[in-house]
Amino acid sequence: MSVAEDRRFMGAALRLSGWHLGMTKDNPSVGCVIVKDGVILGAAVTALGGRPHAETQALDVAGEAARGATAYVTLEPCSHFGHTPPCANALVAAGVARVVACLPDPDPRVSGRGVAILRNAGIQVDVGLMQDEARRALGAYLTRRTSRRPQVTLKLAISADGMLGRRGEEVMITGPLARAQVHVLRAESDAILVGIGTALADDPELTVRLPGMGGRSPIRIVLDRRLELPITSNLVRSARQVPVIVASVGDTAAEAQPERQLRRDALANSGVEVLEKESLTELLHVLADREISSLFVEGGATVAAAFFADGLADRIILSQGPVEIGEGGLESPLTPSNMPADFALIRAERYGPDLCYEYERSI
Ligand SMILES: [Zn+2]
Repeated sequence: MSVAEDRRFMGAALRLSGWHLGMTKDNPSVGCVIVKDGVILGAAVTALGGRPHAETQALDVAGEAARGATAYVTLEPCSHFGHTPPCANALVAAGVARVVACLPDPDPRVSGRGVAILRNAGIQVDVGLMQDEARRALGAYLTRRTSRRPQVTLKLAISADGMLGRRGEEVMITGPLARAQVHVLRAESDAILVGIGTALADDPELTVRLPGMGGRSPIRIVLDRRLELPITSNLVRSARQVPVIVASVGDTAAEAQPERQLRRDALANSGVEVLEKESLTELLHVLADREISSLFVEGGATVAAAFFADGLADRIILSQGPVEIGEGGLESPLTPSNMPADFALIRAERYGPDLCYEYERSI
């Protein structure tokens, strides 16, 4: 099989893997395509909730025809017995002749073992095709596995002159197409985070409001050191439908503790979980331990700057609208012209009148 053909089928597997981003719990959203004589016999993505895995589903579709076929998988097939037998064994049993994978699985229960099972059975295994694309597609899973924290995406909407808005005044910076795009990014994330400033100013709901995607709303987190999120806010009032976490990060010793206890109890009684942590890093460890692999940080400037200062930003998305704010504007900590050197532009798209830039930390 030619390299061009390999890339074509792996490209299909990578696109499939994107379908269930944010919906596979602690399992990665993996794509698998089974091919023989240039024909796709079976294709699948990790099921909702994380099981069954892509390989076993694709093999089921291919059936007997999988014998002698090539399996394209975006990540090394698993080798550990969980609720079901490992995918590496399923590929052996199905009699595939060759397995192509983009990356080894950093999960210590798998790493290299999946490949070894296949090779020991006489299957040709090629690892490393389209690695960069796979690192991008599996970025959330890989970050949680290797750094015990979710992959963090910072999103900022900035004006043509690099401002976030004007203090005390709502300014619509981007149009409906760019805002719909934000809802897609929310849906692909396990959790979404804003600062208390944004929560108080905008009273957002932070749910996914695209037709047919309402069930994909991620956990909502408010960074709120003094527990100021009002009980009457849209977030708190919907906490029993879509979970809300109020995260108090930093030193709170100087605060009046009885009042703090009252606010903590009021939030808890409304169905909000209160997490109190020393640092952002510690908060992210807790989230990672709860199988949150991707965190979408939606403003504002203070929160973005805090994540950035702690070296906790992996991706940055800037939506730039055509409006100019001018005098009295709030300057964005990040703009296309001051992006740090270790962040590379990987995507630039136009949504109506708005430009969207996506940067990622060099990999
Ligand atoms: Zn598996």
